[in-house]
Amino acid sequence: MLGMQSLTTAYLKALRKLFAGKTGAEIAGEWVKGPGGLFWNAEPENDPKFQEMAYRLAYRMAKLVAAENMKSWRQAAMKSTRAREIFVALQQEIRRTGLQPELQVIAARNAKLIRSIPQEIARHLTQKAVTLQQEGKRDLEIVAELKRLAPRLTKSKMRLISRTEIARAGTDLDKLRAENLGLEWAVWSTSEDQRVRPSHRNLDGVLMNWNDPPQPESLIGEKSTLGRGFGGQFPNCRCSMLSLADLDEIKWPTRLYRNGAITRVTRAQFVRLLPAGQLIAA
Ligand SMILES: [Zn+2]
Repeated sequence: MLGMQSLTTAYLKALRKLFAGKTGAEIAGEWVKGPGGLFWNAEPENDPKFQEMAYRLAYRMAKLVAAENMKSWRQAAMKSTRAREIFVALQQEIRRTGLQPELQVIAARNAKLIRSIPQEIARHLTQKAVTLQQEGKRDLEIVAELKRLAPRLTKSKMRLISRTEIARAGTDLDKLRAENLGLEWAVWSTSEDQRVRPSHRNLDGVLMNWNDPPQPESLIGEKSTLGRGFGGQFPNCRCSMLSLADLDEIKWPTRLYRNGAITRVTRAQFVRLLPAGQLIAA
């Protein structure tokens, strides 16, 4: 989705501005000479003004993702035989809650991540300072080295947050909208390029239930500390989920994830698996 890509860029830009506005070229915080040597004082974590700015930025991002997400639902609905039904449900959703609670959850999670940037950089730099001291480097050399390192660390941390969180917010909203509409099944979709990790490539085009997220690595026999989740919900993941409103929307037979394994099923086999009354047009 092109829209999501430009949102990722916009989020990264906003993050850079937030931190640049605090301190000029460097990340917020300052060097302090303590009893253990030099350490980085990441004071903005406790600064109420910084906290408020972080939350406002995070909430703005959540709203933009929701708007983009609505656009893609409308586009998908137009192609569906259940278009009218879906449009009506989306309209009701706007009237009812406007997704407010979910937006607040996404914004709070992101505000926390943003606030944690100075602390995380601080931890990393303090560790580095200790190593350099043990190597016998003088304070001035250490500061110079860490000053070089700090912007790089900050940038990569911001990149990780913007990439991961835009996709994750999109999938969270997809799941919520699918629930609101009674759509229980979705297809994992990768960006189908070289950068897709093998565990996610394995799930490309696989049909799954919104209540039963897979653990992608274990499905290809890899160990992982990442938990279960859907496309878009993992660090640096660019995958997404396409909710299924009609069985005509996919080619049969298809690969199905269920009970911790992927199997191939025909349309008839899949229909037999659906519990009675499941809201899908069979
Ligand atoms: Zn992925």
